[in-house]
Amino acid sequence: MSTQLPLTQSLSKLHNSEEFIQRHIGPDAAEQQHMLATLGATSLDDLIAQTVPADILLPQSNQDRDSKVTAQTEVDVLADLKAIASQNKIYKSYIGMGYYPNHTPNVILRNVLENPGWYTAYTPYQPEVAQGRLQSLLNYQQMVIDLTGLEIANASLLDEATAAAEAMAMAKRTSKNKKSNLFFIADDIHPQTINVVVTRAEQFGFETVVEPAENVVNHNVFGALFQYPNTYGNVYSIEALIKQVQDNKGLVAVATDLLALTQLKSPGELGADIALGNAQRFGVPMGYGGPHAAFFATKDKLKRSLPGRIIGVSKDTRGNLALRMALQTREQHIRREKANSNICTAQVLLANMSVFYAIYHGPEGLDRIAKRVNRVASIFANALKAKGVNLINQAWFDTICFETTDAGQNSKDEILARADKAEVNLRADLANQIGVSFDETTTAKDLAVLLDVVLGEGHGLSVEALDSEAVGQSGIPAELARETDYLSHEVFNTHHSETEMLRYIKSLENKDLALNHSMISLGSCTMKLNATAEMIPVTWPEFGNLHPFVPLDQAKGYHQMMDQLGEWLVEITGYDAISMQPNSGAQGEYAGLIAIRKYHESRGDHHRNICLIPSSAHGTNPASAQMASMKVVVVACDDKGNVDLNDLRQKAAELADNLSCIMITYPSTHGVYEQTIREICDIVHQHGGQVYMDGANMNAQVEITSPGFMGSDVSHLNLHKTFCIPHGGGGPGMGPIGVKSHLAPFMPTHPVNEKTGAVSAAPWGSASILTISWVYIALMGSAGLRKATQVAILNANYMAKRLAPHYPILYTGQNDRVAHECIIDLRPLKASSGITELDIAKRLIDYGFHAPTMSFPVAGTLMVEPTESEPLCEIDRFIEAMISIRKEIDMVETGAYTLEDNPLVNAPHTTADMVDVEWNRAYSRENAVFPTAATKANKFWPTVNRIDDVYGDRNLICSCPTTESYAE
Ligand SMILES: *Cc1c(COP(=O)(O)O)cnc(C)c1O
Repeated sequence: MSTQLPLTQSLSKLHNSEEFIQRHIGPDAAEQQHMLATLGATSLDDLIAQTVPADILLPQSNQDRDSKVTAQTEVDVLADLKAIASQNKIYKSYIGMGYYPNHTPNVILRNVLENPGWYTAYTPYQPEVAQGRLQSLLNYQQMVIDLTGLEIANASLLDEATAAAEAMAMAKRTSKNKKSNLFFIADDIHPQTINVVVTRAEQFGFETVVEPAENVVNHNVFGALFQYPNTYGNVYSIEALIKQVQDNKGLVAVATDLLALTQLKSPGELGADIALGNAQRFGVPMGYGGPHAAFFATKDKLKRSLPGRIIGVSKDTRGNLALRMALQTREQHIRREKANSNICTAQVLLANMSVFYAIYHGPEGLDRIAKRVNRVASIFANALKAKGVNLINQAWFDTICFETTDAGQNSKDEILARADKAEVNLRADLANQIGVSFDETTTAKDLAVLLDVVLGEGHGLSVEALDSEAVGQSGIPAELARETDYLSHEVFNTHHSETEMLRYIKSLENKDLALNHSMISLGSCTMKLNATAEMIPVTWPEFGNLHPFVPLDQAKGYHQMMDQLGEWLVEITGYDAISMQPNSGAQGEYAGLIAIRKYHESRGDHHRNICLIPSSAHGTNPASAQMASMKVVVVACDDKGNVDLNDLRQKAAELADNLSCIMITYPSTHGVYEQTIREICDIVHQHGGQVYMDGANMNAQVEITSPGFMGSDVSHLNLHKTFCIPHGGGGPGMGPIGVKSHLAPFMPTHPVNEKTGAVSAAPWGSASILTISWVYIALMGSAGLRKATQVAILNANYMAKRLAPHYPILYTGQNDRVAHECIIDLRPLKASSGITELDIAKRLIDYGFHAPTMSFPVAGTLMVEPTESEPLCEIDRFIEAMISIRKEIDMVETGAYTLEDNPLVNAPHTTADMVDVEWNRAYSRENAVFPTAATKANKFWPTVNRIDDVYGDRNLICSCPTTESYAE
């Protein structure tokens, strides 16, 4: 029974701003005390003092600084953000340029985008508990393959512009025209794509020309990029140009549009080697720039050079069909500076939304939508022609560009003024031209308004009359009309009723282990709470419905939110300026390295190109360095896991003349606070280098120390780790960079207003999900964030302490403490029992847990990061599972189990094992699937047995198998 408080007191209780902090942080005060006692620490501050080197602890004055954010309640924060959001003006957008309004089907909005079962999962590195999103991504690949007419597709890239840059890099890798260093960019491509590709080329040291497409024949190139339909909406055949480039051993990439491809002959049919673009208009809000999934497809013979993740078909130990990520040896986490790309986090959640959109509508529905969009464009074109307006494009799918007059009613200024009054955005970045792109949301009424805007009132045209005149007209040249089928696989032709769709989405969700089931203690990935309050604003129309290139005065709410977030992040990082443009951590690394390079160049140091990277670094670090044309020199780590200072001193001195920077992660990926971080920064600075601190481990720094305070010059922040953006099953993410003032002039530029210097298609990256981090910081306040960091460290140390008697902790720092994560060493066990880290990872699934990070940064280990959000009971459950697994390993060691027949090597166990009449293993079925009481109460069933990776790579299939093959 709770006692009734006086009203004034209970009112203030209702508005307790500490409440969210206590909900975000898993262990309550009593549990924290218990854990501290286990560790022999008296308080959180005491634990931090034991753990974090004194010379990097922020002084008390910093903790109490005036600008400190104070925590607020969920109600207040959401009300504040709503007020900010309402300053955004939602005009009807006809800007096009790769971003289109659309209708997110509500069944997808609620059950995918707003559903933690989909948005809190991680990249499917444990495929046995990820068959749902793997299936969905395979569907996505199939959709892209069908529409582009190519043979293999990846499971998304970050945006269209970076996909184009990846295509250029791929052309360079695979072109047989080895003598050429020139990449051709047709000048009728979206400006942001040109900017990002040119920037990438400058960094790689490739030459580029930007000229009319037909000029490609005048150049000896290793590759060329065209756009179809082009940025003005024109549709013309590039078939002959493609052939000419290929005859000269160059590769051709074509940027394109999925909806247009339902009506147009595919790039594959035209002979293209690569097709890429933005899948956004398939049901994903514009979000002022993102997140959206870029697609990327190529020919089968080029598959080993493909960037990004590819989902492939394999089989499990029972011979059943099973999916997993294929050909991983192309990727940064294995190939490092020799990887095809630095991409790690991509856009899985958005790729899934897009393919669900295609599944929901089916090929006929998409055809209907596309024909309607095309018809609206045709009506509009006819109206313009009837009034003597000159069209820039004589063929079209959805976009019409027209000439404006110098003065009078048809001048650009007057049209734009009328547009503004009618709350309509037209494309206005072209000299003496205006562009209008249509989409599935355009209505007859919209069209009538638009005609008044463009032609001025009193034009005397009626949409109805124009509509009947446009019957049978398409704007698409007959020889480019699509004649081939697409999306004929059953999955695209089954789930058209909402009931079926809902159940299909749910059936896939059920196969996946996400944070709404249990802890995902992936070290380095920071799988913390993604609070519901943080997620809610993402789908507010005030944030969703803004085109990335609207005039700034329509996005005041966005900029207030982003400026505020930027200020908070400046404080938290100890830097001077933030760029929100990079839309993943790896992209942030690349942007940061460009800033370093340009800074050196501004001082005449064009030769500084050496990047020191400790051997423990994440794979994206060397892969990004390579993209900035830096030479990677590996610095050794000592047997305690710390950077070997002698080696660093020696290499920095030896290479001083050409030293560009060091890329270092702090706390190190070994999970310890290195004592010598200040010295490391000093050594590099003394030799003229800059310090890039990888911010992925900021969860161990926030409000306790900071990169700027330690002496670093630039970092990216993984907002999808430390700052609560969910991982989405492999994206989206945001990787803004913070820099000291001397690097600020060299941060990314605006992708449309400038010609080079952008790293993403959209000026503020995936702007809409910045709201998540904004809400998180507003809810926590500085003190709450500090508490979160402390408890993250507490949870990790408690975990380490309790696991240590059973598994050796590989590295510890001062006073035997770990940072926010710890590595358990399984190599001794492997030597004594034959049981591997993989067996343990898979056995954890039987216990209801996703495995920790496996074999990174050290092979044969697991790296555990509980985060502050996991409550003590869950941490204890995990520890109990690990102890129980240790006992099972004992039984292998002692010979009670053979190495061939034990619950570890056969893990994970499925319902197929449960009903196996031939079960004759050395352990019971009950022990197989219900090893603990907790699993009986809340069982997660993996849907496949252990998957055969090698088989999948040897027999590569990256499209949807027929339904029959599942039954076989
Ligand atoms: C996650 C991570 C990255 C890469 O970030 P993405 O957002 O996945 O590109 C880089 N470094 C470290 C240490 C990481 O953990």
